[in-house]
Amino acid sequence: MNWYPIELHTHTQHSDGDFTVSELVKAAKQRGFAAIACTDHNTCSGLRELHEAARREQLVGISGIEWTTYWGHMLVLNEQGYTDWRGVRPEDMDGAIAAIHANHGMVGIAHPFALSNPVNTGYHWEFRVSDWDAVDFLEVWSRDYAPSKIQSLRAMELWEQLLNRRCRMTATSGRDWHREDDKPYGHTFVGVEGKLTTESVLHAVHCGRVCLAAGPLLTMQGNAGGKCIQVGDTVCSGEMEIDLQLDSSVLENDWDRTQVLPEEICLVHNRNVILRCPLHEYQQIQVSLPAGWLRADLIGTYYGRTKQCLAFTNPIYIS
Ligand SMILES: [Zn+2]
Ligand SMILES: [Zn+2]
Repeated sequence: MNWYPIELHTHTQHSDGDFTVSELVKAAKQRGFAAIACTDHNTCSGLRELHEAARREQLVGISGIEWTTYWGHMLVLNEQGYTDWRGVRPEDMDGAIAAIHANHGMVGIAHPFALSNPVNTGYHWEFRVSDWDAVDFLEVWSRDYAPSKIQSLRAMELWEQLLNRRCRMTATSGRDWHREDDKPYGHTFVGVEGKLTTESVLHAVHCGRVCLAAGPLLTMQGNAGGKCIQVGDTVCSGEMEIDLQLDSSVLENDWDRTQVLPEEICLVHNRNVILRCPLHEYQQIQVSLPAGWLRADLIGTYYGRTKQCLAFTNPIYIS
């Protein structure tokens, strides 16, 4: 399986971004992304241009829109049809998500804990969701300096609480890209076997074959009874071999090696750190775990702040 950096949250001049669609796609190519979604606020008017530009730059283009409402922002990707966001009240969200899924679309909650009124309207997620399993992904990291932001810690807490309630939801990082700047950002990496297409990228997001990194990429793979287990897969509780791989060569020009300093790798089971491992490019660990979920975190210093989460995997689920 290969790991590819992608970006699922961007804006252009079709809403409040500075980029033309073509400039956005060129910038994505230049930074080394393999796939990019265009998610302008409440409009899909840039999408035809997105796919033309993506073809030119040999990038995977993903249709999207950011539902921008008084009660929260939601990314809708690859919907074959249109669900009207207008008039969707906080209590209507389960039905809206079902309608989008019926159109083969995917949904992700954008920046759930960003500051709302009076700073911005509707940034904070206030929609009532009773079926969290229906939400395909959650932006645990959002925008610049994501690993050390209080919003990220709160989003991580929400995500972990949902995982502990046996929900399955993929964590992503959203650049919420409006314009070029030199600030540091987190990245979403998808694990894809075979050809990279809109479908294979979104399938990886849906299945949880996703790792987040603000510097080196940490990936995890399991092995139980001769069967290979990827993040997002479910395995029976018991003995498992865990392979951890650390790759410092990803997106080489997109993070500052003097400011992102890894120190250790932690294995997290149901919110508890169960093992601290040294930094090696590759290591194998034996674990025997009860039901729940298992994740690997890369911990270190991020722009002067110690003990920050520099990278993390989505979980392997244990039944
Ligand atoms: Zn937004
Ligand atoms: Zn946005």
